[in-house]
Amino acid sequence: MADRLLTASAANGTVSLVAGITTDLVSETQIRHHLAPTASAAVGRLITGTALLGASLKGREKLTLQIAGDGPLQQLAADAHLEPNGAVGARAYTRNPHIDIPLNARGKFDVSAAVGTGQLQVTKSYEVGQPYQGIVPLETGEIGDDIASYLLNSQQVPSVVALGVLANPGGIVAAGGIIAQLLPGADETTIAALEANAAAMLSVTTQIAEGATCEDLLVAITGTLGLHIFRDFEVAFKCRCTREKVESALLGLGRDELVKIATEQPQTEATCEFCKHTYVLSADEVGELVARFD
Ligand code: ZN
Repeated sequence: MADRLLTASAANGTVSLVAGITTDLVSETQIRHHLAPTASAAVGRLITGTALLGASLKGREKLTLQIAGDGPLQQLAADAHLEPNGAVGARAYTRNPHIDIPLNARGKFDVSAAVGTGQLQVTKSYEVGQPYQGIVPLETGEIGDDIASYLLNSQQVPSVVALGVLANPGGIVAAGGIIAQLLPGADETTIAALEANAAAMLSVTTQIAEGATCEDLLVAITGTLGLHIFRDFEVAFKCRCTREKVESALLGLGRDELVKIATEQPQTEATCEFCKHTYVLSADEVGELVARFD
C-alpha cells in the first residue's frame, strides 16, 4: 500500500491527530543514503515525525527538524513541504549514515544511544515574514519523545508521539507513526486515556506490518474517545534541490575560486546531501558561471 497520512480529531474536537504509514518514504531514504540499521531507525523516525507534522503546513510553508547530539550519529535533519498537488514531500540527512550499534535491552534499535544527548531544533518558515524557530534539549534521544517535548515547550500542549521503523536485513519492513496533540479545553482524563491506549496497543510498526491502515492506527490510539476523520494526504520522498541552487552555491565561492576550478578540473561534481543526486558541470559550464561576474 502506498504511503499515506491521515488527519483527524477526537474527544469532541479537543484532540488533534495525524497518523502516517511511511514505509516507502523510509525505505527510499535508507536506500539513497545507504543507511545502516540503527541509522535507518533514527533517520526513519525523524523523517516520519517531520512528515506527520508536515500535514499541518499551508501553501509554501516549510518545516525542518534538526537534531544535534553527542552520540555517534552527531547530526540528523529532515524537512517537509507541500507539493503543488497537496501531497507532503519530505527528505532527510544524517552526517554518519553507517552508524550501527547493538540492540537495546528491549531488543529494539538503540536510537537513544546513537543520538546521545543534545538538542532538537525546529524551524518553520512561512510564505511571508520571519521563520519561527524553537529549540529544546533532547528528552531521551528516541526522537518520538523529543518531538513530544518540543510540542509541550513550544505550544504548551501535552501530546503522545509514537514513531517506529521495523527493518530486517533485506530493508525496511514497516514504518509509520501517530501524533496526538491536546488542544485548549481538553479534559485531563483525555491525555491519560490516549497514553493508556498508546501503552496498550501493539507497536505502530507491528500494526502496519499486519496490514493496518492509517485509520486503524487512529482507532487504536483513540479507543472510545470518538474519532472524526478530516483528510488524507499522499506522502513521498521529495528533494527540492535544483541545478540552479548548485550553480548559486558555486557562485558563492567567488570569481577567483571558480576560475581555479574551471582551469584545474575537467568537470566539477556537487552532490546534494539530502537526496544524493550528483550534479556534474563541465569546465565550460563552470566558465560560464565565471562570466556572470564580468
Ligand atoms: Zn537533492
